Amino acid sequence: MTTPTAEPYTVVIGLEVHVQLQTRTKLFCGCPTRFGAPPNTQVCPTCLGLPGSLPVMNREAFHLAVRAALALNCRIAPFTKWDRKNYFYPDLPKGYQISQFDLPFSSDGWLEVTDPKGAFSRKVGIIRVHLEEDAGKSMHDEAAGTADTRIDLNRAGTPLCEIVTQPDLRSPQEARAWLNELKLLLVYLGVSDCNMQEGSLRVDANVNLHIPQPDGRVAKTPIVEIKNMNSFRSVERALIYEAARQYGEWQTTGAELGRTPKQTRGWDDPAGVTRAQRHKEESSDYRYFPEPDLVPVTVDEAQLTAARGMMGEPPAVLRTTLADRWKISAYDADVLVNQGRELVAYYEDLAARVGEGKVASNWLQQDVLRTLNERGETIDAFPIRPDALADLIGRVQRGDFDTSRGREIFAEVLAGGRSVAEVVAALGIAAVGEDDLLALCRELIAENPKIVADVKGGKEQAAAGLIGQAKKKNPNVNPGQVRQTCLELIRGM
Ligand SMILES: [Zn+2]
Repeated sequence: MTTPTAEPYTVVIGLEVHVQLQTRTKLFCGCPTRFGAPPNTQVCPTCLGLPGSLPVMNREAFHLAVRAALALNCRIAPFTKWDRKNYFYPDLPKGYQISQFDLPFSSDGWLEVTDPKGAFSRKVGIIRVHLEEDAGKSMHDEAAGTADTRIDLNRAGTPLCEIVTQPDLRSPQEARAWLNELKLLLVYLGVSDCNMQEGSLRVDANVNLHIPQPDGRVAKTPIVEIKNMNSFRSVERALIYEAARQYGEWQTTGAELGRTPKQTRGWDDPAGVTRAQRHKEESSDYRYFPEPDLVPVTVDEAQLTAARGMMGEPPAVLRTTLADRWKISAYDADVLVNQGRELVAYYEDLAARVGEGKVASNWLQQDVLRTLNERGETIDAFPIRPDALADLIGRVQRGDFDTSRGREIFAEVLAGGRSVAEVVAALGIAAVGEDDLLALCRELIAENPKIVADVKGGKEQAAAGLIGQAKKKNPNVNPGQVRQTCLELIRGM
């Protein structure tokens, strides 16, 4: 049953993701891959495509690609080869790109994404993962009004993994969530930094609509490939826009899949629209043929075992492991894992010292993560290490002071480079002894007959009015203990 507010169609989405592998050098030459170098300073005869130069495969790139494909549950081909994809563009001086056509090194995988709030769960099939080299970069200087275009070939020959999914995604929100999961996995694996600002991860999306007809037939709109999306938010926005646009076009023209060729549209982020670019080339337009300058690659079981050994726990497994090991909710485990491997390591260290996973998770999420977000920092640079934070949390657990006082100390330690013990001493915080606490509570009761009467009349929550006064008398008192002691005294009156 579709709800009346639902769209009268299903959105069908497949993704093509290009990920730059984290190698020091390019795929077929020894040039560095460092980002941000002056234009054309990281080039050589091979990546410039000069006649007579010969490519040699970067083993590390291949190993990283195999690790990624295994984590994506792909089959690894025992024999794989390289192909030339021929096309002309100014940023491709060779006139061809070395890629993989009919025998990619891996195929038939999947990656599942589950919404932590339970909105959806989707297992997305992966058709293939193959390796290829990147092209250079054209810089169109339209601002200067000269229509001048410059070419930077530093990026030419950089190793890329292309990940092609089945059209299994069913909404723009799912597509965004799946991309987040993919990125998290690749970063966990150490395969790519997935930095989208630096072009380390690029996404193209194929989208069309399936529209059920009154006669039971399903009308399918022509597939459109959307390019130029430089954030996952853009991917989601572009897909939302494109679904609505295709439905409008279908209502006007009735055009269906198969009668019109696949179209490429570019995403104009500031305008929030997709614009027609060109009709898509078919693979026959590229005149693929086997690369004669490179030997095929064979992969044996020993290499696969070695690659598996480098994988570590992927995020999906780690979420379950953390929840089980530290008795925290699936939601908390999701928040922690999504912050990356370093934060998880910090958390596990902290939880082990504190002895209570939930308490450690609360401090980490409410205090540490908030601070990191405010400062725009990562956990590696966080000045309060797990042993110091565990010391602070331990003092709260023992009742030396309450959580809000603990937060003040946290802020002081963060600001000053002093230890927890030093801040506690400097603030004159000392655990309030039992006799002092009792005396203080008696004083409060004597001064607040109205509250005492209310509590006696059954309104226990009135005791909250005593806490603020208690803190004024002695900032070191524990509010929970004050409340407890006052209630016991009143009951005994
Ligand atoms: Zn080079």
